[in-house]
Amino acid sequence: MTTPARLKPRFAASLHARVLLLTVAIFIATAGAAFVAFNYLVDRAVVRLGTLFAEKQVQFDRYRGLETLFREASLAQTLARSPAIIEWAHDERDPAVRQRGLAELEHYRLAFKDHSYFFVIGGSGNYYFNDRDNAYEGNQLRYTLSPENPRDGWYYKTIASGADCQLNVDNDDNLRVTKVWVNCPVRDGGEPVGMIGTGIDLTDFIREVVDFPQKGIDSVFVDRSGAIQAHRDPRMVDFHSLTKDTKSKKTIFRLLEREEDRKALAAMMERVAAEKNQVESRFVEIEGHRVLAGVGYLDQIGWFNVTLMDVDMLIERQLFNPIVAALTLAIAAATLLIALLFRQVVLGRIDRLAASVRRVEGGDFSVAQIDPSDDEIGQLSRAFADMARTVGDNTRLLEERVAERTEKLERLAHVDPLTEVFNRRGFVHAAGQERNRASRHGHTLGLLLIDIDMFKSVNDGFGHHGGDQVLIEVARRLRHDLRNYDVAARWGGDEFVVLLAEAEPDTLAIVAQKVADVLSSSPVALEDGREVEVTASIGACLAGTDEPVDRIIARVDAALYVAKAAGRNRVIIMDPA
Ligand code: GH3
Ligand code: MG
Repeated sequence: MTTPARLKPRFAASLHARVLLLTVAIFIATAGAAFVAFNYLVDRAVVRLGTLFAEKQVQFDRYRGLETLFREASLAQTLARSPAIIEWAHDERDPAVRQRGLAELEHYRLAFKDHSYFFVIGGSGNYYFNDRDNAYEGNQLRYTLSPENPRDGWYYKTIASGADCQLNVDNDDNLRVTKVWVNCPVRDGGEPVGMIGTGIDLTDFIREVVDFPQKGIDSVFVDRSGAIQAHRDPRMVDFHSLTKDTKSKKTIFRLLEREEDRKALAAMMERVAAEKNQVESRFVEIEGHRVLAGVGYLDQIGWFNVTLMDVDMLIERQLFNPIVAALTLAIAAATLLIALLFRQVVLGRIDRLAASVRRVEGGDFSVAQIDPSDDEIGQLSRAFADMARTVGDNTRLLEERVAERTEKLERLAHVDPLTEVFNRRGFVHAAGQERNRASRHGHTLGLLLIDIDMFKSVNDGFGHHGGDQVLIEVARRLRHDLRNYDVAARWGGDEFVVLLAEAEPDTLAIVAQKVADVLSSSPVALEDGREVEVTASIGACLAGTDEPVDRIIARVDAALYVAKAAGRNRVIIMDPA
């Protein structure tokens, strides 16, 4: 027998649970992969946008903010080549030369944006200066430089470098001005004889170029050593870059926390310096933030424009949340749909089939729900229904056979096999029913006890088989001559008993005599052709429906005894008790 436990598995082992688990796993895997891909795409888009932005920024600065610097530098260069200046550098003391030189300087002062100039005469180290207010008219010689004074290092270093005009961010303690200085060596036949230039106020410069209004973006200028030349925050600016050794400089590299970032930035600077108009960008880490650094090179002044973009501040990732939500929702909906479909197409039908199996198990073989579809489950369902029907038919057949057999056995238990009339047990049972019926109708019962006379001698004369044939014939005659509802039975040996369902005193005597006559009227013909004369003695009595059967039997037995004793072949009726 199949146990119900096998039809209804534990939830953890069921297909439902496994499908649920698998669905959840698929959802997590798909959503995870989608999330990774999405992040990757967003990052790529951000880098792409950031690079574009840095590129534009460099170009923007080149043409917007630094235009002034270029202009000032070329103006200063022109001034440095002025014959009046060169001549003065040679002959500082000649008043006429000095007059011409100063006139030239004053002329250019008005052209310079800052309306200021400086001129250092190499030979003496004398430093001439005048500003926008013409405050030093007639008193342009401000002080004298000395190679021993570290604050004057800018001059000696620029001269020693042999380069053309250079820009230097410098905080002049003596003049209390902070400027980007344009320093152009004055040469005579290639030999440096002095230095001339102008300054631009650093605050203006920063405001114009560096003070970019967009939050999250820092535009920084660094020189080739990485020293910060201009920054939104003046404290970050490395003043006197020219005169410092590398270690004490405020460099862009110091902002970077990781060594690999520093190396990468240096490599980027090298590459963009080698190739004009190129901009490179990469993510670096500054103060724990991921920052996109874009680097461009401003070749005219030898500075790099480094754009630092805090991408998270610029591009809010929350903007992508609706897409993430939509994506998650779509994947969840798809997974749910698959799970529901699977439930409908497979699990639900298997459940219904399992319910049918349970019903069959319970003995109901009429499988009402047959899956109509043509797929595997449908076929399985139909095969199962066929099987159930066959098992049902067989069961019914078996039950019928068992019922038949039981009835037959019951009959055998109640019927005498030789004469095929009731035996004693069958008689008691049938008599009980007749008694009930008679009691309902208010009838009186009659009972006959019949014993064949001298039967032993029949056996002796005709053999036991002959005796049997006589018994069979006696029973047949009794059955034949009695009414349907009278009950005839073999009481045992050569004794028969008859219950008359409805008897009055006179009818009892008539029926008893009729029975005696039927038995003796003609001899019994045996199979071998011989004939046997048969008579019987009969005891009879009337009985009330409430009288116990054994008492009635005792009375007719007594009557029979009297009949035998009186010479046999007669009827004796016992009076009612
Ligand atoms: P009585 O007139 O006093 O009845 O004499 P009887 O010879 O008939 O004596 P009893 O009724 O006592 O004997 C019955 C005999 O019936 C005894 C037994 O051998 C015989 N007998 C009992 N059952 C069967 C049977 O099934 N077949 C045959 N052939 N004989 C049976
Ligand atoms: Mg007898």
